[in-house]
Amino acid sequence: MKLDYDRKRKAQPSAERAYSAPVNCAQSFFSGVASRAHKIRKERIMLLLLALVVTIVCVAAPLLSPKKTFALYINGEAVGSVATRDEALLIVERAEQQLSQELGYEYSLAETVSVSPINVSDAPTETVGLEEAIILNVPDVRDMAVIEMDGIAIGAFDTREEVEAMLTAILDEFTTERTVSITIKNSIAVRQRLVGDDEDVIRDAAALAALLKPDSGSNYALTIESVENVTHWQALPFETIYTDDDAMFIDEETVTTEGVAGDALVTEQVVFVNGKEESRTDLSTMTVVEPIALQIVRGTKEHPKTASTGEYGWPADGVLTSDFGYRNVEIGSSNHQGIDIGGASGQDILASDGGEVILAGESSGYGLLVQIKHDNGDVTYYGHNSKLLVAVGDKVAKGQLIAEMGRTGVTSGVHCHFEIRKNGIPVDPLKHLK
Ligand SMILES: [Zn+2]
Repeated sequence: MKLDYDRKRKAQPSAERAYSAPVNCAQSFFSGVASRAHKIRKERIMLLLLALVVTIVCVAAPLLSPKKTFALYINGEAVGSVATRDEALLIVERAEQQLSQELGYEYSLAETVSVSPINVSDAPTETVGLEEAIILNVPDVRDMAVIEMDGIAIGAFDTREEVEAMLTAILDEFTTERTVSITIKNSIAVRQRLVGDDEDVIRDAAALAALLKPDSGSNYALTIESVENVTHWQALPFETIYTDDDAMFIDEETVTTEGVAGDALVTEQVVFVNGKEESRTDLSTMTVVEPIALQIVRGTKEHPKTASTGEYGWPADGVLTSDFGYRNVEIGSSNHQGIDIGGASGQDILASDGGEVILAGESSGYGLLVQIKHDNGDVTYYGHNSKLLVAVGDKVAKGQLIAEMGRTGVTSGVHCHFEIRKNGIPVDPLKHLK
């Protein structure tokens, strides 16, 4: 601008030089006789003088008047100035574009911003950053920290710190001294941008915080995932170690060392969603007290087949013809000390359980009788046999054939008289037979 001004000033003397020739020429004609031609020449000179004045006024006047520039006004307040109107209008247009883009709707500055020529001396000195100045000074628009959820603006606040403090306060409610991380699972973003005064966003931090709380039930309720490391004591079970011993029977065992549980410190990672436990994962187990193994010596030796099992089997197939206890009979005691199993002569009589034969022979009343003593001290009786197949001292296994059924001794027919005696006293065999 300044350069233009200097250039025009230098041009002034050359205009004066262009006029000097006609003046000199006119003077030479005035020295002659007045004539019509002279009058014409005088008129031409007057015209030339007039042209000179017009030229001086046109060329010099603007240079002598105060220099102009273009000021930008926002609601009547000048914010800066630029050299040309076009430049000023371009700034306004750019500001309009940026406002429209950030606000998301067509924003017009027509009623807010104006451009007017102004004397340089009166113009605001601000010449750069005017676009930003307009944007920041538009009365119904503010540069704010906007909180967005899933890309939609839900709140607008003066500063980003204000938004962050609000979110932190919510997260704090789900944070404990064991919390190792805490995350908002929703898509939340904070963006600094222009916000129109009529944009539908929440501007009250307490109101928005209430909606964001996970239990608010609102559409804005946050999902907060927190992770805690939890440590607790856990008992460590002891193991059982068996040692075989062939000197002991297969069902015998001896504890040589009692087992003692150990103690461990277990650290788990617990994931909470909105304060409610969601999952639990073991992170580490530190053994503080080692468990002591239970040590057991167990036998491997098989029992002899003739050993008692402790359970009595039926000595013969057949029909129960007489119960244990009191009865009316034609012959013999009315107090029956065993049971009678009727069958055919020569039928198998089997040892009711394993044991040792302590009697095999004729016995008063019983006829041919077998007595077997079992490992628990019980004695079983098998009477009225027709034939004995074992001898005293024989070890017999449970179910082994020991005699043949008959009707020897005092009896009314072929049958097996069977007794079980505990400490010498007969008991009801039906209560023990299986
Ligand atoms: Zn009998």
